[in-house]
Amino acid sequence: MVRRIDHSSLPAPDVAGRLDRLRARLDGAGCDALVVTKLESVRYLTGFSGSAALVLVLPRSALLLTDGRYRDQVASEIEGSGVEVEVEIAASRDQLELLARAAGAAARVGLEAASVSWALQRRLAARIDSTRLVATDGIVEALRAVKDAGEIARIEAACDIADVALAQIKSHLADAVSEVDFAAELEAEMRARGSSETSFATIVASGPNAALPHAHPSERVVGPGELVVVDFGATVDGYRSDMTRTLCVGEPPSDLAELLDAVLVAQRAGVRAVRAGATGGDVDAACRASLTDAGYGAAFLHSTGHGVGLEIHEAPALAKGSADILEPGAVVTVEPGVYLAGRGGARIEDTLVVGAAGSRPLTKSTKDYAI
Ligand code: ZN
Ligand code: ZN
Repeated sequence: MVRRIDHSSLPAPDVAGRLDRLRARLDGAGCDALVVTKLESVRYLTGFSGSAALVLVLPRSALLLTDGRYRDQVASEIEGSGVEVEVEIAASRDQLELLARAAGAAARVGLEAASVSWALQRRLAARIDSTRLVATDGIVEALRAVKDAGEIARIEAACDIADVALAQIKSHLADAVSEVDFAAELEAEMRARGSSETSFATIVASGPNAALPHAHPSERVVGPGELVVVDFGATVDGYRSDMTRTLCVGEPPSDLAELLDAVLVAQRAGVRAVRAGATGGDVDAACRASLTDAGYGAAFLHSTGHGVGLEIHEAPALAKGSADILEPGAVVTVEPGVYLAGRGGARIEDTLVVGAAGSRPLTKSTKDYAI
């Protein structure tokens, strides 16, 4: 019998206070009301986890619109979260009419520019005078970037599941297993331990495939002496984990061993740079400088990391030149990698929670490549 996660042992996230914290930021964003359409943000603000919903946040009230499939679920989730929000069940074709009516006197109605489609904007503009519609950028995302204890506990629980699942099955890489079969086994292990779904499409990339940062697992059979990049995560109550380890059956040839060592050193340098007040650009620069010194600067093909929470990629960005400030309670990844076309590659990634003087790792699997 595998050990499953006990959700009741996790501290409750503080959902009820979030709408007021958002309201305090509306004026600064140039609006009096906000239409929230991104489902992860709807869940963050209200606790409702259904797959169809709109929320209108007004200065003294809020309206959540969803359809009849979610009548019971929305009632129990809103009761559970204790959020003050009026719920209206309506067919999706009627929801915008209800939303426009509820927006009533609000002079400036904010839309989330990065997630509202052109079609939705046009449908809204047909009901709310378009001079009242205001584009906003990342207001809810900025709140979501700083996690409370309940959120961190869920991300950590997801990280624990991933750690245990990998430790349980990594020896199977020595059994002539294909990338796709190993990925399936890893996903099944996580699910058996209480992960509701993978946090993104699992990557298992061996040999030359490891040179592709986002390779899909293939039928290729993992061989001895090859680097195998395994990038994967679990999900607990909507919160995600993200970890990469690079493994090897037997001993890697000296050029790949050297590459792996350079990635490990760069990852440590990046982790050391994570602290409250640093920018995402600072952390990226630390990894990039380390890999450049080792002669691999041009082979580091992507950003250093990203925030993790209800979405696998969210604020802050740990990328070249990013001015995003790391705040205490932010949960971020540090994941430098080196990719040599036709030869192989390596990436090492941890999920960390930012503290005043440094960070605390939430993923804890060994970084030793040996199976
Ligand atoms: Zn990852
Ligand atoms: Zn990542």
